[in-house]
Amino acid sequence: MFQSRHFHILPIADGIYALEAAEQGGAMSNAGIIDLGGCTLIFDTFNTPQAGQDLRRAALHLLNQPVRYVVNSHWHGDHVRGNQMFCEETIIASNITRELMRRTQPEWLARMTPLLPNLQTDLAALAAAISAEPDEAARLRLTAEQAYLQEIRESIETLIVTYPAITYSRELTLSGSKRSVALRSLGEAHTACDTILYSPADSVVFAGDVIAVQNHPLFTDGNPQSWLLALDTLEKLGAQQIVPGHGPVSGAGSISSMRQYITDLLALRGEHGSSGDAVEISDIPVPAAYQDWKATGVFYRNLEFLLSQ
Ligand SMILES: [Zn+2]
Repeated sequence: MFQSRHFHILPIADGIYALEAAEQGGAMSNAGIIDLGGCTLIFDTFNTPQAGQDLRRAALHLLNQPVRYVVNSHWHGDHVRGNQMFCEETIIASNITRELMRRTQPEWLARMTPLLPNLQTDLAALAAAISAEPDEAARLRLTAEQAYLQEIRESIETLIVTYPAITYSRELTLSGSKRSVALRSLGEAHTACDTILYSPADSVVFAGDVIAVQNHPLFTDGNPQSWLLALDTLEKLGAQQIVPGHGPVSGAGSISSMRQYITDLLALRGEHGSSGDAVEISDIPVPAAYQDWKATGVFYRNLEFLLSQ
């Protein structure tokens, strides 16, 4: 099997692979490789060009045929920054997602590029701290941070913002000799427009960030209320395997746990938003059910977002 520092490859059906982001490395989110029959489709392209390059190599290695289509589920950088590795192929997104990429990605690069000298200083300081750190656990934490910053530095140095060439609005079917898959916009959920990919014959959905597993899902660019409706639509597909944007491949239970999370946070808003007292968000504890989920900072950003509405 193809090895990459950025992701692990998990075969989930004949000719369908989920690529789960490694703890470290430049992926940051999950992706997919699908054999349509005669050509390959890729779902999402990770957070960095270097992870995107390994994604391309993995697709060619696994299926030994041309990549034809690349899908971006939504505009967030950790799903689109490998696009430049597929500039010869057809990149597809919803029209809203393309527009949001156009508004955000060049601005991100322009903001990050002047920070490169600071990043260099931070990396030098980290290297010094790692060699001086006697405690192994602390050293491992610092090493993880160093690896993350190195990936970010490489991505800023090499990124060429690359947009989808084809857009769609509600649904698009892509077919090869082996299978047909549907791209479907679920409307406003995690962002203003989220695309999922559904393979009915395999009962598989690539859900992008509409589903996060064991990770706090980010609310601040979307709409939690209509996200609940998107989850209803997703559930009706009855897919047995769901590849989330973050976290391990799961079953239909991941839809109910996402619904529960959103409902619980809306209830927390009801509780704290109507008390009339100014509430210190950092004093609100993470509910027990979510204490071991990754990205606790996102929980507090979500609460801040909900309480400011
Ligand atoms: Zn996202």
